Amino acid sequence: MSRFKILSNRHSAAISRGPAATCVSVALFFWLALCSSQGLAFGADGHRIIVSIAEKHLSKKTAAELTQISGGTALTELALWPDQIRGQQKWSHTKSWHYINIKDHERFSGLRRSPKGDVLSALKESYKQLKDPKTESQQRREALAFFLHLTGDIHQPLHVGRYSDLGGNRVSIKWLGSNKRRNLHWVWDTGLIKDEQLGVDQYSALINKTTAQQRHNWQSDSFLDWAMESKVLRAQVYEFGQPEKKGPVTIDQQYINRTKPLLKKRLLMAGVRLAGCLNRLFDSTYFTPITTDKNVCETGGHLE
Ligand SMILES: [Zn+2]
Repeated sequence: MSRFKILSNRHSAAISRGPAATCVSVALFFWLALCSSQGLAFGADGHRIIVSIAEKHLSKKTAAELTQISGGTALTELALWPDQIRGQQKWSHTKSWHYINIKDHERFSGLRRSPKGDVLSALKESYKQLKDPKTESQQRREALAFFLHLTGDIHQPLHVGRYSDLGGNRVSIKWLGSNKRRNLHWVWDTGLIKDEQLGVDQYSALINKTTAQQRHNWQSDSFLDWAMESKVLRAQVYEFGQPEKKGPVTIDQQYINRTKPLLKKRLLMAGVRLAGCLNRLFDSTYFTPITTDKNVCETGGHLE
């Protein structure tokens, strides 16, 4: 499909040729240097938590392969890169890769997809690039950054959003007692995690509790399954427990207490599934005992 080519063609064109290749590498280098010295907006913590959980579920062989691909950059930082560059003109074509829009009554099978790509097509493409032994190293590193990042995004219910409010971005909210206007998307990207008042390591240790059966089940699902779950779960995101009225919706403590377990479960599932796909890619023996379909990550092509 044409949207898959957007990633592969533009990337390889931008990366593998002379000055342009140098330019991208330099940009990535400076960005990584910057983020390791300054720290980033708090919204990055959701991605860090997911990757940090995934790291606990990687085989040694997979972890070693990933260190090689990332050039030693921490995966928790590499995962943030796609959010940092999407505002740049050179990378503006990747903006639509972070989400997919679908109405409540729509099914994925008949869905008109964005010609620029969406989170499903970009996940599939970055996975394909990681799997292809011919992918050159810079492109492989970027594909890894996107794969780490987008696995997180697709598990956030509002990244499988409604067109009408742009995944909650147009739903104005009042967060607890604060007068600062936020939006519902911010609540799920950032606010609920921030409210826990834990560092990334503490947060991931707190939620990283799974049974073998859960890991098996979650790691047997496809990208499409992940998106379909988010679509179903987003109904809970809109349960404000207040009468409809004009103006901002108040997010109160009750909402926070009720929705936090859901958010934590999505972060956990994303981390466990991320590890599952990476193990499949880089340590083919790892999964033999628990699942027969080693290609499950990418075989979600049969839509609903
Ligand atoms: Zn994103």
